[in-house]
Amino acid sequence: MSHLTQVPPETVRKWQEIVNLLAEIMRVPSALIMQVEPPNIKVFVSSESKGNPYEPAETAALNTGLYCETVMKTRQPLLVPDALQDEAWKSNPDIKLGMISYLGVPISWPNGEIFGTICVLDRKKNSYSEIFLRLLLMWRDVLQADLRTLATLDRQLEERDAKIRRLFDADIIGVFIWDLEGRIIEANDAFLRIVGYEREDLISGRVRWTDLTPPEWLDRDVHQWVPEFKRTGHLQSFEKEYFRKDGSRVPVLIGAASFEEGGDQGVSFVLDLTERKRAEAEARESERRYREIQTALAHANRVMTMGQLTASISHEIRQPIGACATNAEAGLRWLSAPSPDLGEVRQAFERISKDARRASEVMNRIRGLVRNAPTDKEWVQINEAIREVITLTRAEAEKNSVSVRMELAEDLPLVQGDRVQLQQVMLNLIMNAIDAMSAVDDGPRELTISTGKDESNAVLVTVRDSGPGVSPENVERLFEPFYTTKAGGMGMGLSICRSIVESHGGMLRLSANVPRGAVFQFTVPGDQDGASGPSAAHEGALSNKSDNDSCQPQCP
Ligand code: ADP
Repeated sequence: MSHLTQVPPETVRKWQEIVNLLAEIMRVPSALIMQVEPPNIKVFVSSESKGNPYEPAETAALNTGLYCETVMKTRQPLLVPDALQDEAWKSNPDIKLGMISYLGVPISWPNGEIFGTICVLDRKKNSYSEIFLRLLLMWRDVLQADLRTLATLDRQLEERDAKIRRLFDADIIGVFIWDLEGRIIEANDAFLRIVGYEREDLISGRVRWTDLTPPEWLDRDVHQWVPEFKRTGHLQSFEKEYFRKDGSRVPVLIGAASFEEGGDQGVSFVLDLTERKRAEAEARESERRYREIQTALAHANRVMTMGQLTASISHEIRQPIGACATNAEAGLRWLSAPSPDLGEVRQAFERISKDARRASEVMNRIRGLVRNAPTDKEWVQINEAIREVITLTRAEAEKNSVSVRMELAEDLPLVQGDRVQLQQVMLNLIMNAIDAMSAVDDGPRELTISTGKDESNAVLVTVRDSGPGVSPENVERLFEPFYTTKAGGMGMGLSICRSIVESHGGMLRLSANVPRGAVFQFTVPGDQDGASGPSAAHEGALSNKSDNDSCQPQCP
């Protein structure tokens, strides 16, 4: 591995500075770093000192008796103070260049392989003091530390390349290597399959990522991703589309990394998203169909519940209309008197107008609940919505001898939701409570509807009855669709209530009332900014029976 490693230019510049300093400190014409490249040895860096005959990149053959060769072979420092006086050195090749003295030490790669030497040479006899040898050894250590860093980087790069290669060859995801000009330099079969091209297309250079990218994505690639890639050297995964060879489009997830800092080549990993997109579209479609069936069932449930209420509600309408007729007759009588009492006539008209308004309000409420309108989120004052439902169910409660009591808290936050749906929940819970209580003959029939806030500031609505209650093993079954114990029941009411409440971000729960009966409670998150509903005071008993023992809300 080591001999493949390139010493980067900034390290070479540093090494140059080292040999320049060495030559200057030791006052010699040559300080060198030599690198072995069998069968030669090369001048890797040469000091820029006066009279230095060695040029960088110059090579000399090995096995010719060079000083440095001995240092590399023995892996020991070598001192030759005067080659001309030394039998062993008097004919070595450096003498031709006039270099008769030498001090050099070996440099190794971290794995022990020899890199070369660092050495100084002089034209004159030179014994190089001990301190110079120490200096040379110290610089040698600096060079070896640089080589260690290089080797580590090199190993990391090799490991990364091997990983990319494994991914590339595994053909599980598409991998391709590209440059910023749009070329695709290499691609695996998985990538070619995704874009529907043959390997010949790739080899002929016909496949360019810029051509594969539809114009609207190319614009983003060029203006957003390319600058980001240049800046950071990688791209977080993002979705885009490619043109296939046949012109169709394929959705993909793509991520990219550069091979080297500031380089213009990168490797991309590409996942075909076709299947996932189809599954998502199917999930959306089935969600849409499911919603359509919610909505339809909820509407059927409202129409049915209102159907049950027809008799009672017609009383709500008949009563003000009857009053209108009576008042109109009275008014006419006052008018036909010999001296008409206009004051009485005015009062009759006022009563007519009030009753007519009452009847039309009831009609509007019924229309609102029976209408098959799409869901509509708005800010709802829960107390007001509850009061309207109570108006519609009052006669039904009376008919079943149920006393209704309202305990509506003041200063409730507004809730965001579908008013009709929330009223449907109330209507179902109230009708169920009346049904349940009409089945018991003994004891008072009490229905309490209260509002308040829970600890998370959500609006809490409680419907409490004194009916037979629900046995613990049946609590969850009640909320299942089509579970009913009533002869004409559909069993959808509570399951619809729960999904309405949950789609509003709340919860619907059931618990036991004391001493008997059931407590249904639901929450709806309130406006966090603190917008308040209308001031709603304690409403007291509403029905034919007065009830002063107001029930305290119990948390399930
Ligand atoms: P349905 O009213 O058509 O039966 P629901 O889903 O509204 O459908 O109610 C399911 C069942 O839950 C009812 O049949 C009844 O047995 C039971 N239930 C609902 N509310 C009460 C209640 N307040 N007290 C006792 N049982 C109840």
